[in-house]
Amino acid sequence: MLGVLWQSQCLGASAMVRISAVSAGGDATILVVSSAERPVEVESLSLSDPPRLVFDLPDAAIPPDQPRTLAVDAAGLLHQMRVGQFQADPPTARVVVDLQPGAEAPVWEVQTGASAGQTLIVLRAAGPRPLNLPTVAPCGEGLLLRFPGVGVLSRKVGELPDPPRVYVDLTDAEVEASQARQFPEGLLAEVRIAQQAPQSGRPVARLVVEMRPARRPCGGEEAAHGVFADGGDLVVAVGGEPWALPLPAYQGSGRLRGKRIVVDPGHGGQKVGAVGVLGDQTGGVVYEKDLTLDIGLRLARALTAEGAKVVMTRCDDSDVSLSARAEMANTLSADAFVSVHCNSCDTPNRLSGTMVYYDHPHSAGLAGMVKEELIASLGTEDKGLRNANFDVIRRTRGPGILVETAFINNEDDRERLLNPNFQERVARAITRGLIRFLNQPKAREAATR
Ligand SMILES: [Zn+2]
Repeated sequence: MLGVLWQSQCLGASAMVRISAVSAGGDATILVVSSAERPVEVESLSLSDPPRLVFDLPDAAIPPDQPRTLAVDAAGLLHQMRVGQFQADPPTARVVVDLQPGAEAPVWEVQTGASAGQTLIVLRAAGPRPLNLPTVAPCGEGLLLRFPGVGVLSRKVGELPDPPRVYVDLTDAEVEASQARQFPEGLLAEVRIAQQAPQSGRPVARLVVEMRPARRPCGGEEAAHGVFADGGDLVVAVGGEPWALPLPAYQGSGRLRGKRIVVDPGHGGQKVGAVGVLGDQTGGVVYEKDLTLDIGLRLARALTAEGAKVVMTRCDDSDVSLSARAEMANTLSADAFVSVHCNSCDTPNRLSGTMVYYDHPHSAGLAGMVKEELIASLGTEDKGLRNANFDVIRRTRGPGILVETAFINNEDDRERLLNPNFQERVARAITRGLIRFLNQPKAREAATR
């Protein structure tokens, strides 16, 4: 841990960067995560003999445990990728992409990633890509529309009203013949694709997703959409509310490799936690212990996909004491401990929202980053960061936080908590917060104590 500090301090770089690569469908993406929480600058040059592309990241240092070669499965496109500290003064990190001798050089583009501090360098074979009608699959209460092979193209997303629709213009995409597909009922009304006028000599194709919003019981309409790349595909998600939008399968890229994280689903067994009464006249109830386990299992999956070693304090309905939970983190010398809970207040519907607790000062940074990521993606009320000496986070010696996801006895919050897409968003937001915290030098310094 001291090595990390030593390097970034001695190099005097303003950011430490962690570099990984993913490949899908023959394309490759270099992912750069910066501790400075803003996109990095990228300078490129093309060298021959042997042919290679070089990407320099000025004012950036790489940690000593950064893998020096990046494995990617993009055989037609490149031979291998290497990472190193190109020079110490001024500090510059370098990624070298060794190309296939004799093959046509790939085209590349720098894109901003999904959360602060992420930069993507997308590499793909030169030439236009065909755009076809998507496959449509249900996911939670929404739909995922998947357009294969065009997720790496540069895109412009817009929306239009009456009827509500989202369009995406893709540069270097080609449509053989304009096509449309109608959907007679439900949220999705029509999907169509067509060629547009070329821009700067490059072909542009447009896809349009037209929605049929549902009426809300108390007035207004609901229809939301999201557009993102998933591997090499472009995905358009449609759903009722932004927080209920479906998400594609989690794609980890090893950003928590070597980290030990303890996930603690609150309560369990006889200790049901807070209780929410369902407002559907059935008199049914929902227990906090079940929701925290659902979210905890999702969190463990996302963290594992990022390469972390995850230990859960419980992965079924068992009753584990608070001291045993904290002891697991201490015995493992865990890099982080995250306890997941649902909130409740004395009067139903009086309060709503998300808050994150910490006890020890060295946990404040983690609590802040996790809370920021939760608020940015959940659409819940920001109930702030709180300092409290709850048993589990007081007893854990490393960074430990307690997340109150939302209020189980608030009608709107409860609807969210019961929605699997919302639960997944909670898990991924906590994961993003952990990635930010565990990849920054200052956090490591605090954690060494
Ligand atoms: Zn609780």
